Amino acid sequence: MSEIRDVVIIGSGPAGYTAALYTARAQLRPLLFGSSIFVGGSLTTTTEVENFPGFPDGVNGPVLMENMRAQAEKFGAEMIDDDIVSVDLTGDIKLLTDSAGTIHRAKTVIIATGSGYRKLGLPNEEKLSGRGVSWCATCDGFFFKDRDIVVVGGGDTAMEEATFLTRFAKSVTVVHRRSTLRASKVMQDRAFSDDKISFAFDSEIAEIKGTGGMLGGVVLRDVLTGATRDLDVTGLFIAIGHDPRTELFTGQVELDGEGYIQVDSPSTRTNLPGVFAAGDVVDHTYRQAITAAGTGAAAALDAERYLAARG
Ligand code: FAD
Repeated sequence: MSEIRDVVIIGSGPAGYTAALYTARAQLRPLLFGSSIFVGGSLTTTTEVENFPGFPDGVNGPVLMENMRAQAEKFGAEMIDDDIVSVDLTGDIKLLTDSAGTIHRAKTVIIATGSGYRKLGLPNEEKLSGRGVSWCATCDGFFFKDRDIVVVGGGDTAMEEATFLTRFAKSVTVVHRRSTLRASKVMQDRAFSDDKISFAFDSEIAEIKGTGGMLGGVVLRDVLTGATRDLDVTGLFIAIGHDPRTELFTGQVELDGEGYIQVDSPSTRTNLPGVFAAGDVVDHTYRQAITAAGTGAAAALDAERYLAARG
């Protein structure tokens, strides 16, 4: 039987690494599972991060994540680059099984598994991520001053992203597969009244073009007629939703209607004693590295207090 750890953390993004740093400094010897194929989380799929405090010249996403990891390891956090494939979090001692079938035991678990942006599934999409293709206007809008941009999606997020991007962009074209938007009326009205925003309804992205390693435009397809046309843009923002990585916890940890973990806000407590959640797996709203790191710190402090009270 494996030893019973004070804290096991699932997830290697800013939330998980920050929780590891805090619990390591509290002498709790955390063990973190950080995925077999996607170590370091979402920021490893981008290039420059300009809005993480402390880096006046910006910082490369993968470098930031390596530094977060090294900082937690320096204080004794143990990292295993593997997936947790099943859990039983309902008992006093939590059981977590890794991909080799080894069962790990813990008094507390911090869930920081993040969420994934939905993708279009087109060639070049992943390759040009951070090179003209983006899923986050707040993160990347600043890089698109005086550029022509296309936003894909018809919901509130897409309208919010499009409207926000007009602060920087020369023009924003919203591409939506249907003839009407799903966004709330107020968000639609705001977008319709913005001179910089135009709409391509009944349309989808048929091709993402690359030029010299950067986005070189897109091809639009009319879904009714099949006709295609080139759109000369240097920015493509995909706003068709995101999926929290919570499959593993379904039936144990309380989720909301969209599959995000519900916490007893402003704490990070879930419905299960000793189980805490942080970062994008909880967060519909802010979805930033700094907010994920912030709730990761909160989860560590919540776990520490739970352990102290448990004795
Ligand atoms: P994530 O970073 O998603 O990390 C979760 C990790 O947990 C992943 O590695 C995942 O594989 C792992 N995991 C999941 N399930 C398991 C399991 N069962 N076992 C083991 N491991 C598991 N934010 C900013 O503030 N500034 C930016 O400039 C910025 N740019 C971005 C650019 C891109 C392309 C993307 C995609 C996001 C960007 N963001 C940016 C958003 C930011 O990356 C996220 O808000 C943040 O990473 C969320 O952190 P997290 O720790 O909650 O989850």
